[in-house]
Amino acid sequence: MKPQTAAILENCAPTGWVVEPLARQILIEYGLPVTRWAWARDLENALEAAAGVGYPLVVKVVSPRVVHKSDVGGVVVGVKDEQGLREAYRRMARLPGFDGVLLDEMAEGLELIVGAKHDPQFGPVVLTGIGGTAVEIYQDAAIRMAPMSRDDARSALESLRGRKLLEGFRGAPPVHRESLIDLLVRFSEMAHDLGPAVDSIDLNPVFCSPERCVIADARIMLPRDRDEEPEEASL
Ligand code: ADP
Ligand code: MG
Repeated sequence: MKPQTAAILENCAPTGWVVEPLARQILIEYGLPVTRWAWARDLENALEAAAGVGYPLVVKVVSPRVVHKSDVGGVVVGVKDEQGLREAYRRMARLPGFDGVLLDEMAEGLELIVGAKHDPQFGPVVLTGIGGTAVEIYQDAAIRMAPMSRDDARSALESLRGRKLLEGFRGAPPVHRESLIDLLVRFSEMAHDLGPAVDSIDLNPVFCSPERCVIADARIMLPRDRDEEPEEASL
């Protein structure tokens, strides 16, 4: 396992999962592409960092107590200027466990979902699907064992019912297929390297455009520490 990743996973063990900015640091250590972003822990710092990320941007809450950010109003997209950032920041600061905000570049394209899970039988497996509501309604996802070769990644994409969306559907431009394949292969290598040290990883969404594929959210769940599991009551 890569050194910075090992340190992050160890620090996050008591929380049971890895907040987005730290999950991004792990992805970066494994060479995966993420949107341009910054983590700011006070308003002044956020206003400064926003210049580097560039408006319009996305403001997301960082909190070890908020696993699903948008469920609690912890994501604001399309923040246009300093005033919008101040408002979003104040709103986030009221959420439980607030530990700053993640400022994120606005990304565009087809939304995909890429996940990894540690399967007790097969080891790490990678799930690829078209994101948004499609994956939930049609359960349109391909599952492959990690690590995946480029051919595995290609065949996973070909097996999707929504594959036409990747090719450019009804006048939409096709997504950058090779960068999507790069992403899948690298992600599967990372999942393989992490093995049972993580329970699951979700990249949701990954934005795919004709120019690039880039990760815009990452959540890493850690396995429960066996020592901490309550003992079965014995009679
Ligand atoms: P969570 O999954 O914890 O609710 P996300 O970071 O995935 O939070 O944000 C929620 C939604 O906001 C995403 O599914 C996506 O539609 C949108 N979103 C998030 N980040 C970006 C971004 N960088 N550019 C454009 N849209 C985004
Ligand atoms: Mg998400």
